[in-house]
Amino acid sequence: MRGMTHLAVAVAVAELFSGNVQADPLDSHPAVVRAKSAVKTLATQAKATVDDDFQVRDVILDNDGREHVRMDRFYKGLRVIGGDVVVHNEKSGMTRAMSHTMAAPLALETAATLDADDAHAYAEALFGRQMNGRTKSSLVIYARGARPVLAYEVYVEGTAPDKTPMEMHYIIDAHSLQLLDKWDDVHTAATQGTGKALTEGTVTLTTDSQSTGGFALRDPSRGSHYVTNMKNRTSGNGTLFTDSDNVWGNFSTTDTATVAVDAQYGQNKTWDYYKNVHGRNGIANDGRGAFSRVHYSRNYVNAFWSDSCFCMTYGDGDGTTYLPLVALDVAGHEMTHGVTSRSANLTYSGESGGLNEATSDIFGTMVEFYANNSASSPNYLIGERIFKASYQQANPTKALRYMFKPSLDGKSPDCYSSSLGSLDVHYSSGVANHFFYLLAEGAVVPTGFSLTKNDLVCNGNTGLTGIGRDAAAKIWYRALTVYMTSNTNYAGARTATLKAATDLYGSGSANYNAVNAAWAAVSVQ
Ligand SMILES: [Zn+2]
Repeated sequence: MRGMTHLAVAVAVAELFSGNVQADPLDSHPAVVRAKSAVKTLATQAKATVDDDFQVRDVILDNDGREHVRMDRFYKGLRVIGGDVVVHNEKSGMTRAMSHTMAAPLALETAATLDADDAHAYAEALFGRQMNGRTKSSLVIYARGARPVLAYEVYVEGTAPDKTPMEMHYIIDAHSLQLLDKWDDVHTAATQGTGKALTEGTVTLTTDSQSTGGFALRDPSRGSHYVTNMKNRTSGNGTLFTDSDNVWGNFSTTDTATVAVDAQYGQNKTWDYYKNVHGRNGIANDGRGAFSRVHYSRNYVNAFWSDSCFCMTYGDGDGTTYLPLVALDVAGHEMTHGVTSRSANLTYSGESGGLNEATSDIFGTMVEFYANNSASSPNYLIGERIFKASYQQANPTKALRYMFKPSLDGKSPDCYSSSLGSLDVHYSSGVANHFFYLLAEGAVVPTGFSLTKNDLVCNGNTGLTGIGRDAAAKIWYRALTVYMTSNTNYAGARTATLKAATDLYGSGSANYNAVNAAWAAVSVQ
């Protein structure tokens, strides 16, 4: 369908401790009123009882009048992890369908056997390193497992040995003190590192002239996104880059502003991609830019998005193998984590965590194609420009990840199996990356790789043809923002993309059939 309206919801989104349900200005929007009514009148479909309550998170209005209202679920006042639901209404206001992963209505006691203190002590022992700030927790219903459980969600902040900040969530059974799940809200680009060569060449930046004279590296045309210099520190938000002649960087790391140019260019292209292709106005769709921190720590080989600062952070690399980690696909990858957290909010563990990572790889790649910069030609490799020239020359096909053949990284499976969810999210992402490549391009071996068509598919379907990147990306974006929820797994992603393809191109259309065929080619049924 052609376009849609997306209403921004002004809620804090790293909402771990949303025990206090606050009234939102969107609550009175007719679409939200209809959705809240639907989960009551169609309680069976919503797997809801009188003890369930819902809080709006996001609203998407299609131009043809259909409505998609995303809501978080609360049970007897406790937030339900994995209980979120999207209500889909026809233009008549009739509820057509709901997306969620609840198997049955909740029916459990909400009195904990254990004190929060017990859960805190256990989480801190699991964390096992220096903490920043006090441990916090809230009582929740954990509905991601086989059976819903009363649990403490314990939040611990600290710093990993490599200086990556950590914002850990531990889900601990409130009766048995068993660890049920855990994830880190700091989403790094990779376990080993991400970044980019300083190879974007000469780029145009929109900057901000200052009343005191000179210029700031802040872009008023893109939500006032700005870049700061961390000067090798790991705390604080750094110092805004300023300049007297509005010429920034010198193509080399001898000028501290050079990587700031790359970071700002990455933000520009990501912002423009989401706005011009998907009609999304910024990461949170509220017109606000984020900010980027460069020169983080010393010899830091990674980059990350953090929801709590709503910012991206880039390390300088190790100076031998790795360059500063500011490559365009990395910037697009990191900012996409922000988009995901404000839409499907895929939990960063298990299969949903792999889908979260894949979403970032998919749109990081799409940003690269959108920019189509001849200085760094686009492709389906992730992080291929984080390596120094000497290393790259010796290892010309080296990248962090390979969407067309994930196993080339030595860790990621090409094909789905039921054990996928036990892998690190940067490896369980491979199957969805692989799906996206096959959907976009078909069983076509990229130049420079000695693979056969049969190496690209898991089911021998070497005749698989692609529908093109743009159509594939539209399908994934709609699936992410309209149909996936926090606990969506690979089977759910298949369903969500088929629904998205139906909306966009029609059920039984060539593109719909291609989605089916591409999932089959990565063993997802
Ligand atoms: Zn990531």
